[in-house]
Amino acid sequence: MNRVYNFSAGPSMLPLEVLEKAASELVCYGDSGMSVMEMSHRSPDYEAIINDAEAMLRKLMNIPDNYKVLFLQGGASTQFAAVPLNLIGRTGKADYVVSGQFSGKAFKEAQKMGYDVKCIATTKEDNFDHIPTVTKDMVRPDASYVHVCFNNTIYGTKYSYIPDTGDVPLVADMSSCIISEPVDVSKFGVIYAGAQKNMAPAGLTLVIVREDLLDYADPKMPTMLEWKTMAENGSMYNTPPCYTIYMAKLVYEWILSIGGLEEMQKRNVAKAAVLYNYLDSQSYYIAPVKADSRSMMNVTFVTGDADLDKKFASEAAKAGLKNLKGHRSVGGMRASIYNAMPKEGVEKLVEFMKAFADANPKA
Ligand SMILES: *Cc1c(COP(=O)(O)O)cnc(C)c1O
Repeated sequence: MNRVYNFSAGPSMLPLEVLEKAASELVCYGDSGMSVMEMSHRSPDYEAIINDAEAMLRKLMNIPDNYKVLFLQGGASTQFAAVPLNLIGRTGKADYVVSGQFSGKAFKEAQKMGYDVKCIATTKEDNFDHIPTVTKDMVRPDASYVHVCFNNTIYGTKYSYIPDTGDVPLVADMSSCIISEPVDVSKFGVIYAGAQKNMAPAGLTLVIVREDLLDYADPKMPTMLEWKTMAENGSMYNTPPCYTIYMAKLVYEWILSIGGLEEMQKRNVAKAAVLYNYLDSQSYYIAPVKADSRSMMNVTFVTGDADLDKKFASEAAKAGLKNLKGHRSVGGMRASIYNAMPKEGVEKLVEFMKAFADANPKA
């Protein structure tokens, strides 16, 4: 077995222990006589799996009882439409913070539906190199919700604070930072995330929603997008993404076994520090993100020379450090160092960065 360090932004690395456990149960799960992939979602064996997944996530994230946990499909991008469809009924209008590409897409999706949506803050004019300051006085008091993207996967920025939106529910896309550290769920009305960054393989979308927000759906909305329907049916209005939920369960179990989100955070902080400390100690690579907005999960940097950037990504790949090319829309490099990336992977990357800088002096 020759596994590489995979710095992909998503789908991304999964903990080796999780993959090995899944492999050991792949063909025959417990004494069920079949694979989880072959199970009816209504069977007692599968019900135990989805119930355990929810119970473990609730424990891990300390989710209050007045929040529903939904295991859905369609990706975070489907929630860009589902969020307004489910919540706009509160007041008919909604506020958005645009801090990168995905929050921009979420804003456009709500606009496209013809709702009264307003961008209350953006850092577009600064190339999204930091997180905007959002204060209560910027929020329309009669907005149905305020939407933010908590960790900007492409630009490598993250909120270092939870915006105070007063009585207006805060809705956060946490696709690329979910379960990377403890978060006070009670400060949010809705948290959603595609699973393929930090939680499971692709195919699962997690929605955590405060119960009192389930009553504002547009009556004409598609049933499949309606959180209330999914909540009332335990995420089984139709067939859920069964196997991916099982994989998420194994990931939750793994994090609980190492000490929960406090320990996960400790590891992630230490890991990100290896890379940021190196970036701050030299001048060959430039880290474009402002220090107070740095993401612990997606670390972006450039050499300042597009050809060198290209050479970097291809030589790193040959050295077993894969997928370091930045997003196609911004170029440069991006190291996604989610929960499953071990510290040694980041140390190897820094070693490679030093050697590359020595071997490729800039003109
Ligand atoms: C990847 C990502 C998305 C898109 O997720 P899909 O599951 O592919 O729809 C949305 N928001 C954020 C923050 C992401 O990182």
